[in-house]
Amino acid sequence: MKLGIIIPCYNEALGLDETQKRLQRLLEAMIEEKQIDKESFIVYVDDGSDDTTWEKIVGYRAKSTMCKGLKLSRNFGHQNALIAGLMQFRNDADALISMDADLQDDITLVQGFVQKYKEGYEVVYGVREDRKSDSYFKRHTATVFYKFQHFMEIESMQNHADYRLLSAKALEALSEFKEINLFLRGIVPMLGFRSCSLSYTRAKRFAGESKYPFIKMLLFAFDGIVSFSVRPLRLITLIGFLLFLLSLLGITWVVIEKFILGNTVQGWASTMVSIYFIGGIQVMSLGIIGEYVGRSFQQGKGRPRYIIEKEI
Ligand code: UDP
Ligand code: MG
Repeated sequence: MKLGIIIPCYNEALGLDETQKRLQRLLEAMIEEKQIDKESFIVYVDDGSDDTTWEKIVGYRAKSTMCKGLKLSRNFGHQNALIAGLMQFRNDADALISMDADLQDDITLVQGFVQKYKEGYEVVYGVREDRKSDSYFKRHTATVFYKFQHFMEIESMQNHADYRLLSAKALEALSEFKEINLFLRGIVPMLGFRSCSLSYTRAKRFAGESKYPFIKMLLFAFDGIVSFSVRPLRLITLIGFLLFLLSLLGITWVVIEKFILGNTVQGWASTMVSIYFIGGIQVMSLGIIGEYVGRSFQQGKGRPRYIIEKEI
């Protein structure tokens, strides 16, 4: 089988040589053992880096025809860089594996992926055995996120990032998903097909720093909810309905106070509390609705998810 490996890179010059060295060695060994076709390849997708990442990729290509490069015209973000590579090369291989550039994913798992593909699986997920290599903070926010996703009725693979194999057939299906706010790990389970997962221990970043600072991580998590579930909108309706019921009680109380008991001056506290409470909920609800409207706006414009500047 002909295998392709897709690696999105954003300012990865520091550690890319090591990644290239190890991957090339791995693929050569697999070709030697006839596990994969000799035309198998590695694609580095340069996601608008402003360091020497692209120069490095050009260098690898000069040394080995096994390496290919795709340069995006600017930084489009991890998910878009990944889909660029997958879509551009989906017809050139029997299956593509996506992997990060920082060697956090255990590359020896590639052999397992290929094995599973040969057994007839179209989608193979790389799942982290534990999160020991993560900071305390990332570990716990991840758990909260999965719980929240579950509450929002979104099915997703826990502890699976974007290390996976997709067969040409699965990639063909993926090409039908035109969403702008991409959250690949939520879409892949929707593809269906025969799938399985392999577990591995995720290492620490080999070199350089994470390209997912806290804010980016938060926005990504937000995408993972709002792109898959309309439950937040339903919750707003529910809250609105409950408040309406409460207000009926309130009205009854006011009427009794005024006409039967005759105490009408008091009530400053309850007025203030309800103004702030209802006002807060209204603004928050508008925000959530706006988020969905904004997304349909973006989708409606149908702008490209990525722009390719060069391919080598
Ligand atoms: N990445 C990218 N574009 C971006 C941000 C990140 O292509 O805008 C790549 C990055 O080079 C790496 C992968 O996405 O190969 C995952 O990023 P990172 O390792 O920084 O994330 P973390 O492992 O910390 O979640
Ligand atoms: Mg990483």
